[in-house]
Amino acid sequence: MPATAGKLQFDQPLRDELIDTLQRLTSTASDTGMPLPEALAAVRSCGVLGLVVPARYGGMGHDAASVNQVVRDIARVDASMAIILFQHFAVSARIVDWGNEEQKEALLPRVASGEYLLASAWSESGSGADKRRIATTAQRQPDGGWLLDGAKSFATGARIADLYLILAQSGEDTGESLSYGAAGQSFFLVEAENPGLVPTDVLDLVGMRASATGFVELQSCRVGAEALLGPEGEASRIISTVRESGATLGAVSVGIAEAAFEILLDHVNKRGLTSQQSVRHRIVNLATRIEAARAIVERSGRKDGADPGMTTLYSKLFASTIGESVVAEVHGMLGSTGFLRDHPINRLGHDARAISLMGPTNDLCRELVSAQCLSALKSA
Ligand SMILES: Cc1cc2nc3c(=O)[nH]c(=O)nc-3n(C[C@H](O)[C@H](O)[C@H](O)COP(=O)(O)OP(=O)(O)OC[C@H]3O[C@@H](n4cnc5c(N)ncnc54)[C@H](O)[C@@H]3O)c2cc1C
Repeated sequence: MPATAGKLQFDQPLRDELIDTLQRLTSTASDTGMPLPEALAAVRSCGVLGLVVPARYGGMGHDAASVNQVVRDIARVDASMAIILFQHFAVSARIVDWGNEEQKEALLPRVASGEYLLASAWSESGSGADKRRIATTAQRQPDGGWLLDGAKSFATGARIADLYLILAQSGEDTGESLSYGAAGQSFFLVEAENPGLVPTDVLDLVGMRASATGFVELQSCRVGAEALLGPEGEASRIISTVRESGATLGAVSVGIAEAAFEILLDHVNKRGLTSQQSVRHRIVNLATRIEAARAIVERSGRKDGADPGMTTLYSKLFASTIGESVVAEVHGMLGSTGFLRDHPINRLGHDARAISLMGPTNDLCRELVSAQCLSALKSA
């Protein structure tokens, strides 16, 4: 497919239309672990999948600031779709940053047109949040291609994605001390239609229940030489630059916190509680925390701090913690109303919790930040 010129717009009317559609569908969401087909169709047709694809490949050429904003707006109505899109944008950006010209020509126009939804499959049962002990292997074949074998877990967008970014051990792990990933790992782009790539079960999660997060097996999966993304054996270098992009899952947490806040405002208005000073002050405290989380997420997207990579980590840590605490406080303020099983605040609580458990987990973020803080202390 040829690269096309011209910058597409995912402008306000299209964005509003997508959000209205997702909001309407969220209330009728099924409980299969998968997004509704209508929601996926809306996402594929509105142009949003090409958000970070450069204009010369038919996309919109937007940056992390736009990713954070779009993901936040979508999380406000559908947090599951927000994480599907976050992973899609992350893999799109890896292709833009690390793909060779042939890979970009072959893949990016399809991403921009909405044909290709992308997913990221790095995690494995037992590999650890830091991906240092993955069991998936990639063996070089005599024809220059690769043979992939292994089983991935917790891949968001499994079964609905058209292309997966797979992390595999392609060479010897020399035991080099890395905080995220190991030596000898490589990234591979594997098409969903490859018979050796088999999405199996979708996980029965407590939150993010429509995110199609599940298992993907690689069963003697043969790919060509062109599937390798970036330098062989240097996935850890790619991983270490991810945070420099400024895109942050904290944006999902802000959207969730904003949704909880809207629920609270509606509740206090309906119950006439705004006459109570204590209620008003608690509302202001919540609004202040949400504003602070929004600000650090926006700063992460602007990449204008002294160390943008650190700001991205701080933004995830801060916004996800605020997201969880805001939802918990709103839950308390709703009283018995929030104790109804199907009240949306319960879904938001579970969705908010997921952010601290995913890419990179909050504990791993703390570890990465501490390594940098300690090295700054040593050199001071
Ligand atoms: C909703 C959801 C969606 C996800 N989507 C994806 C996806 O699309 N693609 C994908 O590849 N993965 C995905 N994941 C997986 C996620 O990124 C984690 O890597 C995976 O769940 C393993 O984390 P763990 O906490 O179980 O790991 P464990 O290693 O078992 O961690 C146990 C605890 O130790 C902490 N920990 C582990 N290693 C370190 C370290 N080096 N330093 C400090 N603390 C550490 C962890 O944070 C955790 O608290 C998703 C997870 C969730 C919950």
